[in-house]
Amino acid sequence: MSMDWMKTLLKISQSPDCECPDCGAKEVRIAFKAVSGEYGYTVIWCENCKHAAVISRSKNENYFNRCKTIPDNLIF
Ligand SMILES: [Zn+2]
Repeated sequence: MSMDWMKTLLKISQSPDCECPDCGAKEVRIAFKAVSGEYGYTVIWCENCKHAAVISRSKNENYFNRCKTIPDNLIF
């Protein structure tokens, strides 16, 4: 995952209003999928340009703009 998305991940834990590192839209979304116990993976994406990143082996943290489903047209 790129540094830009890592910074965005940090921002989205603090404000729902953060910008996509690729297109600048304030449309960043997050979803968590459990895999084993409390661990799983987190997907962060932009609803506008569909650019996305995966954080593997992560916990279900408190982020803004959470979604239950991950779109299937994301660009990783
Ligand atoms: Zn974007």
